[in-house]
Amino acid sequence: MKIGIVGGGPAGLFYAYLMKRADARLEIRVVERDPEGATYGWGVVFSDVALAFVRDMAPELYASMTARQEVHDAMEVVHRGVHVRLAHNVFHRMARIDLLGALHAHCRRVGVAIEFGQRANDIDEFGDADLVVAADGANSTIRTRHASRFGPELDVRPNWFAWYGTTRLFDPLSLIFRETDDGLFIAHTYRYSRTHSTFLVECDPRTFERAGLARRAEGDSVAYCERVFADDLQGHPLLSNRSSWFRYTIVKNRRWSWGHVVLLGDALRTGHPSIGSGTRLAMQDSIALFEASRAHDGDVAAILAAFERDRRPGSDALQAAAIRSTEWYENLGPKLALDPVSFAYDYLVRNGRVSHAQVRERDPELAAAYERLHPEMRA
Ligand SMILES: Cc1cc2nc3c(=O)[nH]c(=O)nc-3n(C[C@H](O)[C@H](O)[C@H](O)COP(=O)(O)OP(=O)(O)OC[C@H]3O[C@@H](n4cnc5c(N)ncnc54)[C@H](O)[C@@H]3O)c2cc1C
Repeated sequence: MKIGIVGGGPAGLFYAYLMKRADARLEIRVVERDPEGATYGWGVVFSDVALAFVRDMAPELYASMTARQEVHDAMEVVHRGVHVRLAHNVFHRMARIDLLGALHAHCRRVGVAIEFGQRANDIDEFGDADLVVAADGANSTIRTRHASRFGPELDVRPNWFAWYGTTRLFDPLSLIFRETDDGLFIAHTYRYSRTHSTFLVECDPRTFERAGLARRAEGDSVAYCERVFADDLQGHPLLSNRSSWFRYTIVKNRRWSWGHVVLLGDALRTGHPSIGSGTRLAMQDSIALFEASRAHDGDVAAILAAFERDRRPGSDALQAAAIRSTEWYENLGPKLALDPVSFAYDYLVRNGRVSHAQVRERDPELAAAYERLHPEMRA
Protein backbone atom coordinates (compact mmCIF):
# COMPACT_ATOMS: atom_id res chain seq x y z
CA MET A 1 0.00 0.00 0.00
CA LYS A 2 1.25 3.50 -0.85
CA ILE A 3 0.36 6.36 1.48
CA GLY A 4 0.98 10.07 0.83
CA ILE A 5 0.76 12.48 3.76
CA VAL A 6 0.53 16.26 3.40
CA GLY A 7 1.92 17.94 6.52
CA GLY A 8 4.50 16.87 9.06
CA GLY A 9 2.71 18.07 12.20
CA PRO A 10 1.73 15.78 15.09
CA ALA A 11 -1.24 14.25 13.18
CA GLY A 12 0.59 13.30 9.98
CA LEU A 13 3.81 12.17 11.66
CA PHE A 14 2.15 10.04 14.32
CA TYR A 15 -0.03 8.26 11.76
CA ALA A 16 3.01 7.68 9.51
CA TYR A 17 4.96 6.29 12.43
CA LEU A 18 2.24 3.93 13.66
CA MET A 19 1.64 2.53 10.18
CA LYS A 20 5.27 1.98 9.27
CA ARG A 21 6.06 0.49 12.67
CA ALA A 22 3.26 -2.03 12.12
CA ASP A 23 4.20 -2.91 8.54
CA ALA A 24 7.65 -2.07 7.15
CA ARG A 25 6.51 -2.91 3.59
CA LEU A 26 4.25 0.15 3.37
CA GLU A 27 5.51 3.00 1.19
CA ILE A 28 4.86 6.19 3.15
CA ARG A 29 5.84 9.67 1.97
CA VAL A 30 5.38 12.72 4.21
CA VAL A 31 5.66 16.15 2.56
CA GLU A 32 6.28 19.08 4.93
CA ARG A 33 6.47 22.66 3.65
CA ASP A 34 8.74 23.96 6.45
CA PRO A 35 12.41 23.10 6.83
CA GLU A 36 13.34 20.65 9.60
CA GLY A 37 13.75 22.40 12.94
CA ALA A 38 11.36 25.24 12.11
CA THR A 39 8.26 25.59 14.22
CA TYR A 40 5.88 28.33 15.19
CA GLY A 41 5.00 28.94 18.80
CA TRP A 42 6.55 27.73 22.00
CA GLY A 43 5.30 24.99 24.27
CA VAL A 44 2.25 22.74 24.12
CA VAL A 45 0.27 21.35 27.00
CA PHE A 46 -1.49 18.00 27.32
CA SER A 47 -3.88 16.87 29.99
CA ASP A 48 -2.96 13.64 31.77
CA VAL A 49 -5.69 11.78 29.89
CA ALA A 50 -4.29 12.97 26.58
CA LEU A 51 -0.86 11.53 27.15
CA ALA A 52 -2.23 8.19 28.36
CA PHE A 53 -3.34 7.49 24.77
CA VAL A 54 0.20 7.91 23.50
CA ARG A 55 1.63 5.82 26.34
CA ASP A 56 -0.70 2.91 25.55
CA MET A 57 -0.20 3.04 21.79
CA ALA A 58 3.50 3.90 21.55
CA PRO A 59 5.38 3.65 24.86
CA GLU A 60 8.71 4.32 23.09
CA LEU A 61 7.41 7.66 21.76
CA TYR A 62 5.87 8.46 25.14
CA ALA A 63 9.31 7.89 26.75
CA SER A 64 11.01 10.37 24.42
CA MET A 65 8.16 12.88 24.67
CA THR A 66 8.23 12.84 28.43
CA ALA A 67 12.03 12.82 28.82
CA ARG A 68 12.19 16.62 28.88
CA GLN A 69 8.66 17.52 29.83
CA GLU A 70 7.40 19.39 32.86
CA VAL A 71 4.48 18.02 34.89
CA HIS A 72 2.50 20.02 37.42
CA ASP A 73 -0.67 19.06 39.15
CA ALA A 74 -2.29 22.41 39.84
CA MET A 75 -3.18 25.60 38.05
CA GLU A 76 -3.95 29.13 39.14
CA VAL A 77 -6.52 31.70 38.10
CA VAL A 78 -5.32 35.24 38.72
CA HIS A 79 -8.09 37.83 38.93
CA ARG A 80 -7.63 41.30 40.48
CA GLY A 81 -4.09 40.21 41.32
CA VAL A 82 -5.32 37.40 43.63
CA HIS A 83 -3.97 33.91 42.84
CA VAL A 84 -6.58 31.18 43.34
CA ARG A 85 -5.20 27.65 43.14
CA LEU A 86 -7.16 24.89 41.41
CA ALA A 87 -5.84 21.54 42.61
CA HIS A 88 -5.50 18.26 40.66
CA ASN A 89 -5.32 19.71 37.19
CA VAL A 90 -2.45 17.61 35.85
CA PHE A 91 -0.80 19.03 32.75
CA HIS A 92 2.22 17.76 30.85
CA ARG A 93 4.06 20.49 29.01
CA MET A 94 6.77 20.33 26.40
CA ALA A 95 8.31 22.42 23.66
CA ARG A 96 6.45 21.91 20.38
CA ILE A 97 9.85 21.58 18.72
CA ASP A 98 10.81 18.72 21.08
CA LEU A 99 7.54 16.94 20.32
CA LEU A 100 8.18 17.22 16.58
CA GLY A 101 11.84 16.21 17.10
CA ALA A 102 10.73 13.03 18.92
CA LEU A 103 8.28 12.21 16.13
CA HIS A 104 10.95 12.81 13.45
CA ALA A 105 13.40 10.50 15.23
CA HIS A 106 10.89 7.67 15.59
CA CYS A 107 9.66 8.06 12.00
CA ARG A 108 13.25 7.86 10.73
CA ARG A 109 13.99 4.83 12.88
CA VAL A 110 11.19 2.83 11.22
CA GLY A 111 11.97 4.19 7.71
CA VAL A 112 9.34 6.88 7.03
CA ALA A 113 10.59 9.34 4.39
CA ILE A 114 9.93 12.95 5.41
CA GLU A 115 10.50 15.51 2.66
CA PHE A 116 11.07 18.88 4.33
CA GLY A 117 10.83 22.25 2.63
CA GLN A 118 8.33 20.97 0.08
CA ARG A 119 4.83 22.28 -0.31
CA ALA A 120 2.10 20.00 -1.68
CA ASN A 121 -0.47 21.97 -3.64
CA ASP A 122 -2.79 19.11 -4.53
CA ILE A 123 -3.31 15.41 -4.21
CA ASP A 124 -2.11 14.57 -7.72
CA GLU A 125 1.43 15.18 -6.43
CA PHE A 126 1.10 11.75 -4.79
CA GLY A 127 0.61 10.00 -8.13
CA ASP A 128 -0.77 6.50 -7.64
CA ALA A 129 -0.96 6.57 -3.84
CA ASP A 130 -3.73 4.34 -2.47
CA LEU A 131 -4.43 6.77 0.36
CA VAL A 132 -3.73 10.51 0.71
CA VAL A 133 -3.89 11.98 4.20
CA ALA A 134 -4.38 15.76 4.37
CA ALA A 135 -2.81 16.59 7.73
CA ASP A 136 -1.88 20.11 6.65
CA GLY A 137 -3.26 22.06 9.59
CA ALA A 138 -6.17 24.40 10.29
CA ASN A 139 -5.75 26.30 6.99
CA SER A 140 -5.45 23.07 4.99
CA THR A 141 -4.66 23.66 1.31
CA ILE A 142 -6.14 20.30 0.30
CA ARG A 143 -9.41 20.92 2.18
CA THR A 144 -9.70 24.41 0.72
CA ARG A 145 -9.01 23.24 -2.81
CA HIS A 146 -11.65 20.51 -2.54
CA ALA A 147 -14.08 22.37 -0.31
CA SER A 148 -17.10 21.14 -2.25
CA ARG A 149 -16.12 17.55 -1.40
CA PHE A 150 -15.46 18.01 2.32
CA GLY A 151 -18.02 20.70 3.13
CA PRO A 152 -15.91 22.65 5.64
CA GLU A 153 -17.55 25.04 8.12
CA LEU A 154 -15.16 27.71 9.31
CA ASP A 155 -16.21 29.70 12.35
CA VAL A 156 -13.75 32.56 12.94
CA ARG A 157 -14.08 33.49 16.61
CA PRO A 158 -14.03 37.17 17.60
CA ASN A 159 -11.17 37.23 20.12
CA TRP A 160 -7.58 38.00 19.13
CA PHE A 161 -4.51 36.02 20.18
CA ALA A 162 -0.73 36.39 20.09
CA TRP A 163 1.38 33.37 20.99
CA TYR A 164 4.46 34.71 22.84
CA GLY A 165 7.13 33.07 24.96
CA THR A 166 8.92 34.41 28.02
CA THR A 167 11.86 33.58 30.27
CA ARG A 168 9.69 34.17 33.36
CA LEU A 169 8.87 30.66 34.61
CA PHE A 170 5.17 30.35 35.37
CA ASP A 171 4.53 27.52 37.80
CA PRO A 172 1.83 26.43 38.04
CA LEU A 173 0.03 26.91 34.73
CA SER A 174 -1.72 30.26 35.15
CA LEU A 175 -4.62 32.12 33.64
CA ILE A 176 -4.08 35.79 34.30
CA PHE A 177 -6.86 38.37 33.82
CA ARG A 178 -5.76 42.01 33.68
CA GLU A 179 -8.19 44.89 33.25
CA THR A 180 -6.72 48.01 31.64
CA ASP A 181 -8.10 51.33 30.39
CA ASP A 182 -8.33 49.71 26.93
CA GLY A 183 -10.17 46.62 28.20
CA LEU A 184 -9.49 43.09 29.39
CA PHE A 185 -6.36 41.08 28.55
CA ILE A 186 -5.93 37.41 29.37
CA ALA A 187 -2.66 35.47 29.50
CA HIS A 188 -2.62 31.67 29.27
CA THR A 189 0.84 30.89 30.56
CA TYR A 190 2.87 27.91 31.73
CA ARG A 191 6.47 26.83 32.02
CA TYR A 192 7.30 24.16 29.47
CA SER A 193 11.08 23.86 29.91
CA ARG A 194 13.79 24.82 32.40
CA THR A 195 14.18 28.17 30.71
CA HIS A 196 10.92 29.20 29.05
CA SER A 197 7.18 29.59 29.41
CA THR A 198 4.47 29.88 26.78
CA PHE A 199 2.63 33.19 27.15
CA LEU A 200 -0.49 33.29 24.98
CA VAL A 201 -2.23 36.68 25.12
CA GLU A 202 -5.96 36.98 24.34
CA CYS A 203 -8.25 39.99 24.10
CA ASP A 204 -11.73 40.78 22.78
CA PRO A 205 -12.25 42.80 19.55
CA ARG A 206 -13.15 46.04 21.37
CA THR A 207 -9.99 45.92 23.48
CA PHE A 208 -7.95 45.02 20.39
CA GLU A 209 -9.31 48.08 18.61
CA ARG A 210 -8.90 50.49 21.54
CA ALA A 211 -5.32 49.36 22.14
CA GLY A 212 -4.59 49.94 18.44
CA LEU A 213 -3.03 46.49 18.18
CA ALA A 214 -3.93 46.07 14.50
CA ARG A 215 -1.80 49.09 13.67
CA ARG A 216 1.15 48.33 15.92
CA ALA A 217 4.33 46.74 14.56
CA GLU A 218 5.35 43.42 16.13
CA GLY A 219 7.87 44.97 18.57
CA ASP A 220 5.36 47.61 19.62
CA SER A 221 2.70 44.95 20.34
CA VAL A 222 5.22 43.05 22.44
CA ALA A 223 6.05 46.20 24.40
CA TYR A 224 2.36 46.96 24.92
CA CYS A 225 1.67 43.45 26.30
CA GLU A 226 4.75 43.66 28.51
CA ARG A 227 3.23 46.79 30.09
CA VAL A 228 -0.17 45.11 30.57
CA PHE A 229 1.40 42.12 32.34
CA ALA A 230 4.30 43.98 34.01
CA ASP A 231 3.35 42.76 37.53
CA ASP A 232 3.25 39.16 36.31
CA LEU A 233 6.38 39.22 34.14
CA GLN A 234 8.49 40.77 36.91
CA GLY A 235 10.98 42.32 34.52
CA HIS A 236 11.22 39.36 32.11
CA PRO A 237 10.68 40.10 28.41
CA LEU A 238 8.01 38.68 26.12
CA LEU A 239 9.54 36.90 23.15
CA SER A 240 8.11 36.76 19.66
CA ASN A 241 8.41 33.88 17.18
CA ARG A 242 6.35 34.94 14.16
CA SER A 243 3.85 35.90 16.90
CA SER A 244 1.46 38.07 14.95
CA TRP A 245 -2.11 38.59 16.16
CA PHE A 246 -4.63 36.08 14.84
CA ARG A 247 -8.20 34.99 15.39
CA TYR A 248 -8.93 31.36 16.03
CA THR A 249 -11.02 29.41 13.53
CA ILE A 250 -13.17 26.54 14.72
CA VAL A 251 -13.02 24.06 11.83
CA LYS A 252 -15.65 21.38 11.19
CA ASN A 253 -16.20 19.26 8.08
CA ARG A 254 -19.47 17.71 6.95
CA ARG A 255 -17.55 14.89 5.23
CA TRP A 256 -14.26 13.59 6.57
CA SER A 257 -13.08 11.90 3.40
CA TRP A 258 -13.59 11.89 -0.35
CA GLY A 259 -12.50 8.98 -2.53
CA HIS A 260 -9.03 8.02 -1.28
CA VAL A 261 -8.38 11.35 0.51
CA VAL A 262 -8.97 11.86 4.24
CA LEU A 263 -8.57 14.86 6.53
CA LEU A 264 -6.68 14.47 9.80
CA GLY A 265 -5.88 16.67 12.83
CA ASP A 266 -6.51 20.41 12.63
CA ALA A 267 -7.38 20.10 8.92
CA LEU A 268 -10.32 17.95 9.98
CA ARG A 269 -11.40 19.77 13.13
CA THR A 270 -9.87 22.21 15.55
CA GLY A 271 -10.24 22.49 19.31
CA HIS A 272 -9.30 25.73 21.00
CA PRO A 273 -6.10 26.86 22.75
CA SER A 274 -8.11 27.62 25.89
CA ILE A 275 -8.51 23.91 26.57
CA GLY A 276 -5.12 22.96 25.14
CA SER A 277 -6.52 19.99 23.27
CA GLY A 278 -5.45 20.48 19.63
CA THR A 279 -2.44 18.21 19.72
CA ARG A 280 -4.35 15.61 21.70
CA LEU A 281 -7.19 15.59 19.17
CA ALA A 282 -4.72 15.36 16.30
CA MET A 283 -2.85 12.42 17.81
CA GLN A 284 -6.08 10.62 18.72
CA ASP A 285 -7.12 10.99 15.07
CA SER A 286 -3.85 9.31 14.08
CA ILE A 287 -4.57 6.40 16.41
CA ALA A 288 -8.13 6.03 15.11
CA LEU A 289 -7.04 6.09 11.46
CA PHE A 290 -4.27 3.61 12.26
CA GLU A 291 -6.70 1.24 13.96
CA ALA A 292 -9.15 1.47 11.05
CA SER A 293 -6.27 0.87 8.62
CA ARG A 294 -5.24 -2.28 10.48
CA ALA A 295 -8.79 -3.57 10.78
CA HIS A 296 -9.55 -3.19 7.05
CA ASP A 297 -6.15 -3.95 5.59
CA GLY A 298 -5.84 -2.29 2.17
CA ASP A 299 -9.58 -1.63 1.69
CA VAL A 300 -9.46 2.16 1.60
CA ALA A 301 -13.22 2.74 1.42
CA ALA A 302 -13.76 0.52 4.47
CA ILE A 303 -10.86 2.16 6.33
CA LEU A 304 -12.24 5.66 5.82
CA ALA A 305 -15.81 4.66 6.71
CA ALA A 306 -14.65 2.96 9.91
CA PHE A 307 -12.42 5.92 10.82
CA GLU A 308 -15.29 8.40 10.65
CA ARG A 309 -17.81 6.09 12.32
CA ASP A 310 -15.55 5.31 15.30
CA ARG A 311 -13.86 8.67 15.72
CA ARG A 312 -16.64 11.20 15.10
CA PRO A 313 -18.51 10.89 18.44
CA GLY A 314 -15.43 11.46 20.64
CA SER A 315 -14.14 14.18 18.37
CA ASP A 316 -17.47 16.03 18.30
CA ALA A 317 -17.82 15.82 22.10
CA LEU A 318 -14.38 17.31 22.70
CA GLN A 319 -14.93 20.01 20.13
CA ALA A 320 -18.26 20.91 21.73
CA ALA A 321 -16.46 21.30 25.08
CA ALA A 322 -13.85 23.47 23.35
CA ILE A 323 -16.56 25.71 21.92
CA ARG A 324 -18.22 26.12 25.34
CA SER A 325 -14.85 27.04 26.77
CA THR A 326 -14.25 29.55 23.95
CA GLU A 327 -17.61 31.17 24.63
CA TRP A 328 -16.77 31.57 28.32
CA TYR A 329 -13.72 33.67 27.41
CA GLU A 330 -15.68 35.65 24.83
CA ASN A 331 -18.45 36.61 27.26
CA LEU A 332 -16.59 37.49 30.42
CA GLY A 333 -18.05 41.00 30.85
CA PRO A 334 -20.36 40.61 33.89
CA LYS A 335 -18.26 37.82 35.40
CA LEU A 336 -15.40 40.25 35.99
CA ALA A 337 -17.44 41.68 38.87
CA LEU A 338 -17.10 38.34 40.69
CA ASP A 339 -14.67 38.02 43.59
CA PRO A 340 -11.50 36.01 42.71
CA VAL A 341 -12.74 32.71 44.28
CA SER A 342 -16.15 32.81 42.57
CA PHE A 343 -14.46 33.80 39.32
CA ALA A 344 -12.03 30.85 39.49
CA TYR A 345 -14.91 28.51 40.37
CA ASP A 346 -16.89 29.78 37.40
CA TYR A 347 -13.89 29.03 35.19
CA LEU A 348 -13.71 25.47 36.53
CA VAL A 349 -17.34 24.65 35.76
CA ARG A 350 -17.44 26.62 32.49
CA ASN A 351 -17.95 23.78 30.06
CA GLY A 352 -20.78 22.16 32.00
CA ARG A 353 -18.87 18.91 32.52
CA VAL A 354 -17.89 19.51 36.19
CA SER A 355 -20.57 19.52 38.91
CA HIS A 356 -20.28 21.06 42.38
CA ALA A 357 -20.08 17.53 43.86
CA GLN A 358 -17.06 16.88 41.61
CA VAL A 359 -15.41 20.14 42.64
CA ARG A 360 -15.87 19.06 46.27
CA GLU A 361 -14.24 15.74 45.58
CA ARG A 362 -11.43 17.05 43.40
CA ASP A 363 -10.64 20.28 45.17
CA PRO A 364 -12.18 20.43 48.67
CA GLU A 365 -10.31 23.64 49.52
CA LEU A 366 -11.81 25.54 46.59
CA ALA A 367 -15.28 24.04 47.22
CA ALA A 368 -15.12 25.14 50.88
CA ALA A 369 -13.97 28.66 49.95
CA TYR A 370 -16.80 28.88 47.41
CA GLU A 371 -19.40 27.60 49.89
CA ARG A 372 -18.31 30.22 52.43
CA LEU A 373 -19.20 32.87 49.85
CA HIS A 374 -22.30 31.00 48.58
CA PRO A 375 -23.84 29.20 51.59
CA GLU A 376 -26.73 27.96 49.43
CA MET A 377 -24.24 25.54 47.81
CA ARG A 378 -23.66 23.68 51.09
CA ALA A 379 -25.07 20.14 51.07
C1 LIG B 1 -2.03 29.79 19.73
C2 LIG B 1 -2.14 28.32 19.74
C3 LIG B 1 -1.85 27.65 20.92
C4 LIG B 1 -1.95 26.28 20.97
N1 LIG B 1 -1.66 25.65 22.13
C5 LIG B 1 -1.78 24.32 22.19
C6 LIG B 1 -1.51 23.62 23.37
O1 LIG B 1 -1.12 24.20 24.38
N2 LIG B 1 -1.68 22.28 23.40
C7 LIG B 1 -2.12 21.62 22.30
O2 LIG B 1 -2.27 20.41 22.37
N3 LIG B 1 -2.35 22.24 21.15
C8 LIG B 1 -2.21 23.57 21.08
N4 LIG B 1 -2.48 24.22 19.92
C9 LIG B 1 -2.99 23.48 18.79
C10 LIG B 1 -1.94 22.65 18.11
O3 LIG B 1 -0.85 23.45 17.73
C11 LIG B 1 -2.59 21.97 16.91
O4 LIG B 1 -3.89 21.60 17.24
C12 LIG B 1 -1.80 20.74 16.52
O5 LIG B 1 -0.50 21.08 16.19
C13 LIG B 1 -2.51 20.04 15.35
O6 LIG B 1 -1.66 19.14 14.72
P1 LIG B 1 -1.75 18.92 13.15
O7 LIG B 1 -0.66 17.96 12.82
O8 LIG B 1 -3.13 18.58 12.77
O9 LIG B 1 -1.48 20.33 12.49
P2 LIG B 1 -0.17 21.30 12.54
O10 LIG B 1 0.57 21.11 13.80
O11 LIG B 1 -0.67 22.62 12.18
O12 LIG B 1 0.71 20.68 11.37
C14 LIG B 1 0.41 20.85 10.00
C15 LIG B 1 1.70 20.79 9.22
O13 LIG B 1 1.42 20.84 7.84
C16 LIG B 1 2.35 21.67 7.19
N5 LIG B 1 1.72 22.14 5.95
C17 LIG B 1 0.66 22.98 5.83
N6 LIG B 1 0.31 23.12 4.54
C18 LIG B 1 1.16 22.33 3.83
C19 LIG B 1 1.29 22.04 2.44
N7 LIG B 1 0.48 22.57 1.53
N8 LIG B 1 2.27 21.19 2.06
C20 LIG B 1 3.10 20.64 2.96
N9 LIG B 1 3.02 20.88 4.30
C21 LIG B 1 2.07 21.71 4.71
C22 LIG B 1 2.65 22.75 8.20
O14 LIG B 1 3.89 23.37 7.99
C23 LIG B 1 2.62 21.97 9.52
O15 LIG B 1 3.89 21.48 9.87
C24 LIG B 1 -2.36 25.57 19.82
C25 LIG B 1 -2.61 26.24 18.62
C26 LIG B 1 -2.51 27.61 18.58
C27 LIG B 1 -2.78 28.33 17.28
